[in-house]
Amino acid sequence: MKPRKWMGWRIPAMAFLFTALLLTSCEKDDEIEAPIPPDPNEGVIFLPVVVHVIHEGENIGEGPNLSEERIKRQIEILNEDFRRKKGTRGFNDHPAGGDTKIEFVLAKREPDGAPTNGINRIDTTKVKVPILGYNQNHFAQYAYWDPSQYINIWTTPLPQSTECLVLGISTLPKTDLPGIQPSSWPGPNDAEGILVNWIHFGASNIDCYARYGRTLTHEMGHYLGLLHPWGRKDCVLNDYCEDTPAVDREVYGIKSFMGCAGEMVMIGNYMNWSHDEVMNIFTKDQIARMHYVLENHEGRKALRSSPGLDSN
Ligand SMILES: [Zn+2]
Repeated sequence: MKPRKWMGWRIPAMAFLFTALLLTSCEKDDEIEAPIPPDPNEGVIFLPVVVHVIHEGENIGEGPNLSEERIKRQIEILNEDFRRKKGTRGFNDHPAGGDTKIEFVLAKREPDGAPTNGINRIDTTKVKVPILGYNQNHFAQYAYWDPSQYINIWTTPLPQSTECLVLGISTLPKTDLPGIQPSSWPGPNDAEGILVNWIHFGASNIDCYARYGRTLTHEMGHYLGLLHPWGRKDCVLNDYCEDTPAVDREVYGIKSFMGCAGEMVMIGNYMNWSHDEVMNIFTKDQIARMHYVLENHEGRKALRSSPGLDSN
């Protein structure tokens, strides 16, 4: 979860192949070895997402009824961050940083098989549901797709007064990864997914530290098993990633400072509450946790082969 002063979370062998090219000339044959560059998409896991746009009757493109362009750009930003793409804000050359090899795709098929663009708009002036609070269970009453086949994201119609205060919330996975206790798993009747305040979904020009679409990056990190680098703020039980310097307090802002072991805090880590403008790194240990969840979590293993990815 990534409210800033609110409850807590950013509630956020390669093998070079060589081939021999046989060049023929009139005089003689030469063999020249030409390297083929590695395929950047080799081994990438693609995961389907659905964005449930919860609005209050506005026209498309107005207020919380976000434009298709803004939604698509947000998914691009998410992929730039997760893939550490060169030439984007998501790139870093930090020795601990990596390409997660995880990418997100707006769903192409609804659960019933109908074609979709992965954007599901709900007008709350036409659908009434019981008020359950600001949580996944409340918004799932409007729309909720099988979480074993789709990652559900709800953009929520909060008022302008929540700008820069309420960012997003994510559920944690049911996993035996260290640091995620069964007590923090969603219950059997709880909806799983990510809420993002519509104001902070995608890039915008608001005057705020959270305007480059990193709220979703942070929350997706939680959804795939990452914790805040400060953990329990005791320098010991932190995020269970050895390559994120331990820190005993929440990390905000744009400036690094000394952590528990005399190392500078990794201000640019997506799992801090740092400003969007400085975020650009998932570490190798964080990436390993996310892959562990995708490979071992009963409810997430099938995401990569979801019919929702298939446009045929
Ligand atoms: Zn968080």
